[in-house]
Amino acid sequence: MSLRFRVLGSGSGGNATLVEGGGALVLLDAGLGPRQLAERLQSAGVDPAALDAVFVSHEHGDHARGALAFSAKWGVPLALTRGTSRAAGFAAAKMPACEEIAPGETRTIRKLAVRAVAVPHDAASPLAFVVSAGAVSFGHATDLGHLSRGLVDAFRRCDAVLVESNYDPAMLRDGPYPWSLKERILGPFGHLSNGDVGRLLEKGLGAACRQVVLAHLSRKNNHPELALQAAAEALARAGRREVALALATPEGTDWIAVRASRAVGRRRDGQMRLF
Ligand SMILES: [Zn+2]
Ligand SMILES: [Zn+2]
Repeated sequence: MSLRFRVLGSGSGGNATLVEGGGALVLLDAGLGPRQLAERLQSAGVDPAALDAVFVSHEHGDHARGALAFSAKWGVPLALTRGTSRAAGFAAAKMPACEEIAPGETRTIRKLAVRAVAVPHDAASPLAFVVSAGAVSFGHATDLGHLSRGLVDAFRRCDAVLVESNYDPAMLRDGPYPWSLKERILGPFGHLSNGDVGRLLEKGLGAACRQVVLAHLSRKNNHPELALQAAAEALARAGRREVALALATPEGTDWIAVRASRAVGRRRDGQMRLF
């Protein structure tokens, strides 16, 4: 069964990722305005009304900004936690449909399964997602302050992962943000640094993974080259030459196909030494 994804927007300007597989089409986050979201879907060859659901990871504007208006305009149901719905102010709004999901739950649309995974972030009930079609899985995590065991476990069997590589610590420290915001980003419920991602790739990546996409880079506190270099060095240290590395720009990516790994060794599975 085939599975593919396409990032439509990434970073503080707005996040959205389209995933297609198992006869279904879903959006993970709708942080772009509804018109821009529709335009980017159309340039990906997708009719916005053909989407089966929009899963919203958390209430921050760069993930939820366009969700309500997009849902209403195109008749696409939202899927989100009760906490996110309340915090975003969606609870009282009129929506065509709203599916409540809880962390740990899996929603299946035709043959596409979307599992909600709790992540540590300063929002009401923030989620990462693992999307699976048959034996192929794609992990998607933006906005988390540290690598939780639950997330690393959920990602271990993924054939492709997208993970935020938000900041370079030196750039953040010396950058223009007020100290209170720097503390928030650096804290355990803020965002992942390039080094955090390196740790995930070196020690926590499952043997099945063949594709890593770095996303949600800060424009002020990171450079694409720094993020890519840190990730590439971590993969090299782990001897993972078979893993392709890509980066989502603010405008997103092209379609990326997720393929099931045939040669899944037992070498690395179960050898998580992050904790
Ligand atoms: Zn964000
Ligand atoms: Zn956030």
